[in-house]
Amino acid sequence: MNRYLEKVLNDVKAKNEHETEYIQAVEEVLTTVEPVVEKHNEYEQLALLERMVEPERLITFRVPYVNDSGQTVVHRGYRVQFSSLIGPYKGGLRFHPSVNQSIMKFLGFEQIFKNALTGLPIGGGKGGSDFDPKGKSDGEIMRFCQSFMTELQRHIGQDIDVPAGDIGVGEREIGYLFGQYKRIKNAYEGGVLTGKGLSYGGSLARKEATGYGLMYFMREMLNANGQSLEGKTAVISGSGNVAIYACQKAKELGMKVIAMSDSQGCIYDENGIDLELIKQIKEVERGRISEYKKVHENAQYLASKDIWNIKADIALPCATQNEITLEDAQKLVANGVIAIGEGANMPCTKEATEYFLANNILVAPAKASNAGGVATSAIEMSQNSMRYYLTFEEVDKKLENIMINIFQSCKTASEEYGLGNNYVAGANIAAFRKLAKAMKAQGIV
Ligand code: NDP
Repeated sequence: MNRYLEKVLNDVKAKNEHETEYIQAVEEVLTTVEPVVEKHNEYEQLALLERMVEPERLITFRVPYVNDSGQTVVHRGYRVQFSSLIGPYKGGLRFHPSVNQSIMKFLGFEQIFKNALTGLPIGGGKGGSDFDPKGKSDGEIMRFCQSFMTELQRHIGQDIDVPAGDIGVGEREIGYLFGQYKRIKNAYEGGVLTGKGLSYGGSLARKEATGYGLMYFMREMLNANGQSLEGKTAVISGSGNVAIYACQKAKELGMKVIAMSDSQGCIYDENGIDLELIKQIKEVERGRISEYKKVHENAQYLASKDIWNIKADIALPCATQNEITLEDAQKLVANGVIAIGEGANMPCTKEATEYFLANNILVAPAKASNAGGVATSAIEMSQNSMRYYLTFEEVDKKLENIMINIFQSCKTASEEYGLGNNYVAGANIAAFRKLAKAMKAQGIV
């Protein structure tokens, strides 16, 4: 490894010793941008990499609320404002018990590159809390969101930082967060949050955007390699926002989705997943995927991780980070998988990604393939500024074009550096070059 890159990586490891996910995300980027760094000796004197890996600001705060039993509960809130190089900080909020500083920083760091790839004027940020919305009443969710926003509102704004949803934060939570922001600020500032409901400033097709975008990217990637999605089978981990709409678009593009999961189990339905039933269970009833079997008795209910044992042409990890380990990758390859599409952020461990690439499996990297969500959030922001709304078809067409362009950027960059169809490196290089240029242009800040 290049000496400068190695020095920066060692510093990151030493300074953030316990932040394993964050170190993993930085290492993945630094190792792949080596050919660019080799060409630019000036980066070291400008401490360009050191500045890129250090968040501009990291805010942590106390979030107290009263639960339905009258008990006061305290959670920790975060917002990492990683980079405003090319636009206001932008990135989702995650409510999940696993949330910690390392996960916030890895997600914020990845977001900078993802947002740069969209070609839209958005910087990178992320936030959330170790609060678990699962099993909570609407009243508890509302009181928690109001408390969270009571602090967060000091740090955000439509030209400063624009949060959105992520795991555990969907339209319901965004609604409560927006209501509290508006109340405190005494102003309707539509562009301060994205993923809003359609009745108060949300964009059509935002809910579908990440999953649809993933499938547009997959279609482009397969076509560029002489293959097609039509007639292929797929397994999709998760059954949340990304997974559901990836499944919907996969079916529209002629694929057969045979398995989906949640954190407790996996449904394997050889006849093809009944998506309307999944939506009913997950979006309406907020239930568990195991309930699928009550309607489709022939489907099998397996452990979550068993999804990677199922034979399919394409695997779409759409749940969470590091859900595909080396062992899972070996099973997928042995079962003849031809492509991996990362709907979740960093769903494959470093070893799993390396194994796929070494076995000529096509990998659609999260920073590029799941960028459709944030791209459509930026389209929501511009609609809020224009005070004018686009139709579903108009937003979807813009999303599709953005995904085609993102794929082309990854392909061009990987080919330019002689890396063939390694789009993992291509995505990192394309985004890094844009960010490095902006950083040099803006002086030492
Ligand atoms: P949701 O909360 O809507 O759904 C998450 C799904 O993943 C649920 O089915 C959940 O199961 C499952 N899941 C969560 N944690 C785990 C875990 N530790 N092990 C197994 N399964 C788990 O989230 P999203 O669909 O919005 O997000 C999914 C992924 O996509 C995340 O990595 C997110 O960062 C990424 N992403 C999301 C975007 C968006 O627009 N929403 C944009 C870009 C990326 P259960 O219900 O049992 O918890």
